[in-house]
Parts: sequence; structure tokens; C-alpha cells
Amino acid sequence: MTEQVMYDVIIVGGGPAGLTAGMYAKRAALNAVLIEKGVPGGQVAITTGVENYPGFKEIGGFELCEKFLEHAKAYDLEIRNTEVVSTEPGIDYHGVTLADGTVLTGHAVILAAGGTSKKLQAKGEDENFGKGVSYCATCDGFFFRNKVVAVIGGGDTALEDALYLAKITEKVYLIHRRDEFRGSRILQQRVFAEPNIEILYSTVVSEIVSDQSGVTGLDLKSTRNDETSHIDVEGVFIFVGFSPNSQLVPAGITINKSGYVVTDEKCETDLPGIFAVGDLRQKYANQIVLAAADGCTAALAAAHYVETRKVVEVEKEEA
Ligand code: NAP
Repeated sequence: MTEQVMYDVIIVGGGPAGLTAGMYAKRAALNAVLIEKGVPGGQVAITTGVENYPGFKEIGGFELCEKFLEHAKAYDLEIRNTEVVSTEPGIDYHGVTLADGTVLTGHAVILAAGGTSKKLQAKGEDENFGKGVSYCATCDGFFFRNKVVAVIGGGDTALEDALYLAKITEKVYLIHRRDEFRGSRILQQRVFAEPNIEILYSTVVSEIVSDQSGVTGLDLKSTRNDETSHIDVEGVFIFVGFSPNSQLVPAGITINKSGYVVTDEKCETDLPGIFAVGDLRQKYANQIVLAAADGCTAALAAAHYVETRKVVEVEKEEA
């Protein structure tokens, strides 16, 4: 089924980048729709606390997303809660196919699909998902109150979430494969000062051990001397990075070797009128403030693009 509604801009994804794009698109008087398959907010909605979004010294990730959503809705942004299955580039307009087969058409498309947590690829990881293995401390931390847990990773997410878990669990083992964290200095200092966190540097997980009730421990190996050890834990929180959701990026658009979409300074891809923003786009850092900035840039550039397309259409009709 092809809907008759022709949008100026179709935004795919409802995280900070998509919602900001929606807000700016409506402010530019564009006929815009945002499509989100889950709860708007993206990865930020499952982030513990945010301390680096300007204007908010400290705010919960979910709460910040609610504010983005509320702000976008204040401009009457149309939001459809469904899945996008493909993006079809065109010349006069682009198509976006939804899970029920509906094809929406738009002069411009802003891809804001974000990314997902990477797996550790450890033995026992898949079978214990939801039975002690988690990728979200704010979602699942509560189930491990006063228990011993492990956090795997050495980036900002691992450090932030280890700090969060240290407040509610009995003890957190923070396990990192190198002897130096990748995460920011300020988070490292807080981790070092937290008595409930024991850091295991230069250590990898060789197996997540479990019984019928779920995770019971971790078999570990030193990356320095191959020495093996075991720790008893009831939960393991895995934060080993992030992969961009580039499945909806159509052929003809350059993607770098890590899966991020390459754009110009307007966030426009190789295909005119198709933009990529937020955690999907190749850039120096993945931050909420940068995702929001991308959304703004892409919407302003899309507004200019749509205006140009409409002039071309009028000229064609008059010819
Ligand atoms: P990340 O920065 O890519 O860090 C991933 C960590 O996991 C690294 O320490 C890496 O080790 C480790 N790792 C990767 N694969 C592994 C494996 N197979 N086994 C063991 N360890 C492995 O990912 P992130 O922490 O999710 O952060 C993603 C982005 O979001 C970053 O740009 C980050 O700055 C940003 N972020 C910002 C904030 C904030 O500012 N408040 C909060 C969260 C995230 P190596 O270091 O050895 O590579």
C-alpha cells in the first residue's frame, strides 16, 4: 500500500538526534513525520544519569528523553510508532517502507536510527541474557540489590554504570582488558574513589558460568600472563561498545569500516536529500549534545533542500 501523504521530511528514529530534527523541521514549517519502533529516546532513555548535557547539571537519561519528546510534541510533530524496513532513494522524492508494507514518500529523509550495544561474544552470554547478563544498568540494576556483580568494559558507559551499580549492589568487579581505562578522567577518578568497586585490569572473561537459576560466576583470564581465575557474581553487565544501526542505509551511501555513515558538514550523505545524524553518523565523539546538534543541522539543511525541490517541481509543471 502506498500512502497518498507526501511528506517534506521523514525522520527515521526517535532518539535525541531524531527528536531534535523533528523539532527544527516543524519550526521550519515542514510537513514532517518521525518514525520510532520503540519508546522514543534511544540509548539515552536507558542511560543512568546525564551530567554533561548543557543546562542540566544532573538529569536522568529517561527524564531528559521525556523533555526532548515533550518539546518536539509542542510543535505538533507527527510521531508514528512502527518499524521501518527499508529506505528507497529516488530522484524527485525518497521512499520509506514501514513494517506493514506502507510506503511513505518524502523529499528528504533523515536517518537517525542510532546504534545498539555490542556483545562480548563470551561463552554463556546469549543463554544467560535476562538471567544475570544485562546491557543496561538502569533497567536491571534493581534486580541485583545487595548482590555481587561484574561490569565488563573500560569506556564511559562501563565506568558510569559501575558507579551506578556500586550504590545499589554489595560489590562491583570492574573488569577491563587493558591496564588503562578509555573512559573520561572525571569518571575514572570517581571509580578510583568508590570503595565498592574492585578493578580487575588486564583481564578478560573466558566464560559466564551459570546454573538453572542463572549466572553464578565468571571464569577469567589474565591478558598479561594467561593466568586463569574465577569470581562468584550473580550479575554481569556488559558495556564493550556500540554498533551503529546502519541496516536501513541504502546502497550508494558511504559507510566507514566501523559501520558509521559518512556525511558532509550538513549531515547530508552521498545521496542528495538523505541525511544521517546522531550515533549513526561518523564523527569525533558520540555525545547527546552532538546528536542534538546533528538533528538541528540536518533539519535546517533538509528545509533548504525541500524548498529547492519544490521550486524545481513548479518549474517542471510550468514548462
Ligand atoms: P567505548 O568507548 O567504545 O568503550 C568500549 C570499551 O569496551 C573499551 O574500554 C574497550 O576496550 C572495551 N571492549 C571492547 N570490546 C571488548 C571485548 N571484546 N572484550 C573486552 N572489552 C572490550 O564504548 P562506550 O563506553 O559504550 O561509549 C560509546 C560512546 O558513547 C563513546 O564515545 C563515549 O564517550 C560515549 N558515552 C559518553 C558518556 C558521557 O559522556 N556521559 C556516557 C556513555 C557513553 P579498549 O579500551 O581496550 O578498546
